[in-house]
Amino acid sequence: MIKDNFGRTISYLRLSVTDRCNLRCFYCRPCQSRFMPHETILSYEEMIYLLSIFSEMDVQKVRLTGGEPFVRKDILYFLNRVKTTLPDLDMRLTTNATLIAGKIRALKDIGIKGLNISLDSLDRHKYQRITGMDCLDNVMASIRRCLNFGIRVKINVVALKGVNDDELSDFVNMAMELPVDIRFIEFMPIGHKTLWQKEHFWSADDIVSEVQNMVEIVPAPFSSLNHGPAAVYDLVEGQGRIGVISPLSNHFCGTCNRFRITADGRLRTCLFSDNDFRLLPLLRSKKISKERVRIVLERAGLQKPMGHEIMGARGSSEKSICSRIMSSIGG
Ligand code: SAM
Repeated sequence: MIKDNFGRTISYLRLSVTDRCNLRCFYCRPCQSRFMPHETILSYEEMIYLLSIFSEMDVQKVRLTGGEPFVRKDILYFLNRVKTTLPDLDMRLTTNATLIAGKIRALKDIGIKGLNISLDSLDRHKYQRITGMDCLDNVMASIRRCLNFGIRVKINVVALKGVNDDELSDFVNMAMELPVDIRFIEFMPIGHKTLWQKEHFWSADDIVSEVQNMVEIVPAPFSSLNHGPAAVYDLVEGQGRIGVISPLSNHFCGTCNRFRITADGRLRTCLFSDNDFRLLPLLRSKKISKERVRIVLERAGLQKPMGHEIMGARGSSEKSICSRIMSSIGG
């Protein structure tokens, strides 16, 4: 088991399978940073080796993220390999859903039970302005297709005042009609040259009160799903649910059970901390045994910061909490 010094146990890993993305969301990758060279990226074999070590150390859940996971060549082959090698590992994916149209049946066959889909606007032109691509219709069709195949869908919306706050009722209507969770995530000042500004900040509390003015909602029973950091509400007369994730206004560091691994094999013990552990050289060295890797993971756990003190150190200035951009961390 990987434990930290604050009594938290690591049971959840977010693994970025690539730093490349086909979208250019303005808030996620604000500067023209270069992509990682291919040889510095973990190979599928290396990822499976790492996942097997984590799984032996009681990590039960992995979320594959990116960049955009579906831009990586042969991703379905990789998902299949993970499922057959580690059948008990709870494997999930986070995607922008622009490239999955022809892959949904295969995802179902592999045993993917749910997808988190990022979608910041329901307006075609605005979606294009935010992401740089005109593919909202394609994403909406894939969401419906996932639901038809019985794949659970959670929609992640980055809450951006002045950008998508005027669409709250459209998102609520979507959750009324479709059995999806729509979760608003507070915009975080992550990454070198972040575009975060107070003016863009739309708090989770404000979102919940605005939703309450539109429809009747009640807190979802905790047992009904593993909510993670989201506060989730049932729509009394709707099919779906509304959630909020409030890393800034009401942080959840005290219950954080996560490690993150970037595509180039850097282990981040906290989203906000650039203090990372380079795993790639360990995995590529013939002299380093599985046991040594395990020891490094245990030591990393002991150095996991509580987290919120890093945000506090940022004060009220508008600079970023950490220098890595979100597309290279994976969210
Ligand atoms: N391409 C995949 C996707 O679109 O979901 C996975 C990677 S993306 C970096 C993961 C999530 O991080 C997306 O939901 C994205 O909107 C979110 N994100 C990026 N920058 C953010 C920020 N500054 N604050 C909050 N969420 C952010």
